[in-house]
Amino acid sequence: MIQEVAKDRSSCRQRVGVCGVSVMRIVVLGAGVVGSTAAYMLARDGHEVTIVDRCDKPGMETSFANGGLMTPSDSSPWNSPGTIKRLGKMLFDSNSTLKLNPSAIPSIVSWGLKFLSNSTYERHKTNMISNIRIASLSLETLRSIRQTSSLHYDQTTRGTMRVFPRNGRMSEFVQMCREMQEWGVKFDVLNQEQILEKEPCLGDVIDRYTGAVFFPDDESGDAHKFTNEMTRLAAGLGAKFMMNTNVLEIVRQSESRISHVKTSKGDVRADAYVLSLGSYSPILARPLGIHLPIVPVKGYSVTLPLNGWKGGPTRPVMDDGYHAMMVPMGDRLRMGGKAEFARYNTKIDPKEGRRVLDDILKILPSMAANVDVDCALNWSGLRPMTPGGPPIVSSTPYENLFLNTGHGPLGWTMSCGSAKIIADLVTHGRVLTNSVDPADYVL
Ligand SMILES: Cc1cc2nc3c(=O)[nH]c(=O)nc-3n(C[C@H](O)[C@H](O)[C@H](O)COP(=O)(O)OP(=O)(O)OC[C@H]3O[C@@H](n4cnc5c(N)ncnc54)[C@H](O)[C@@H]3O)c2cc1C
Repeated sequence: MIQEVAKDRSSCRQRVGVCGVSVMRIVVLGAGVVGSTAAYMLARDGHEVTIVDRCDKPGMETSFANGGLMTPSDSSPWNSPGTIKRLGKMLFDSNSTLKLNPSAIPSIVSWGLKFLSNSTYERHKTNMISNIRIASLSLETLRSIRQTSSLHYDQTTRGTMRVFPRNGRMSEFVQMCREMQEWGVKFDVLNQEQILEKEPCLGDVIDRYTGAVFFPDDESGDAHKFTNEMTRLAAGLGAKFMMNTNVLEIVRQSESRISHVKTSKGDVRADAYVLSLGSYSPILARPLGIHLPIVPVKGYSVTLPLNGWKGGPTRPVMDDGYHAMMVPMGDRLRMGGKAEFARYNTKIDPKEGRRVLDDILKILPSMAANVDVDCALNWSGLRPMTPGGPPIVSSTPYENLFLNTGHGPLGWTMSCGSAKIIADLVTHGRVLTNSVDPADYVL
């Protein structure tokens, strides 16, 4: 069975969409936050969009219970200068936030070398600027979507705060913030009194902290709910969904054109295809000769129902000492930490969840007496990481195949920005905004 998502290409190309551009039939592979947001943007440009995903609903894999941070301020890639020196301790110390499962070593050798080669001062700074640009475009795009559509995803728009223990690395961090400020990331340095003005819940432990950095433009929310808001808007514009559908192969017609996609529900044909399968993108791209340098990096989160308790933070707070974060999400608190190279293993280890929770209870001791912490929900997901940090958002040697993948630890933060870039590339053949350099996101 061949599903003719694009039945008659010539007639499609003659039809004119909302911006005076030709209407195309487009298949977006992957209904995570990245694919769903791109699908919405493409539908908004007037295209006929079909989203294909193996899950029964959008946003069920890595976009399900991530940290919920929408933070251009977090644009510094993980391989900051000096990574090589710190790596041994980081990977093999059982208390470290970065862990390497020995079984993953063979699969990440070449990626790991590229990761290290990106840790020079110059490379790291260049990648950080590329991240800031796409994350800032994302926030700007999100804000403009919110002006025209009412979105509900347990969002906060009160900034984020990173608190630093005494003898921590606050001055080094502030120095990095000054560099980011040149590229538009605003920040304020707070003393103990100012921390408490913003977040009185830290009163029990305030003496632990030497100060904080506050990022007024950052936001937060539930990425899973946001993904479903994007698919709701896309559906309102006529987008179609093929859920519970496994993508088996992207089939080429020639060296420069894709003919169709083989799925568990038959072949699907369109004018253009957008690859947004998160950590699984490399598997589908490889047979086409496209080698995506993306590896899965596992992370954990814990979500605690608060049942009306209001004693927690009112905005996301990151504790730089414990490498722990707590993010208010409606009547829930999302917490997280940790990164692990474990190939495609998404098994949830309750011990990791307990460790995250225990760190948060050191910061918010009153929570234990007021909330049933045994009701916490553990989750794990795979960040699709590139070795440098910036995602891959670009055209390919195949004129009708586009890449929108590899967003690593910032997939939600960058989703609206990369959706705008990919929609421009598909619709206009070039990126219309000057605020990003598309060359930063090519393979
Ligand atoms: C613990 C943790 C915390 C994080 N915190 C944050 C944060 O605070 N802020 C932030 O911005 N980012 C955060 N991230 C990163 C962010 O969650 C990811 O970058 C983002 O979810 C990636 O989205 P995606 O759409 O590319 O991938 P996914 O959400 O994984 O979507 C890919 C989709 O492709 C589908 N798929 C895969 N293979 C196939 C196939 N063969 N056939 C059919 N369908 C297929 C999957 O079902 C899935 O729906 C975090 C990640 C983790 C793990």
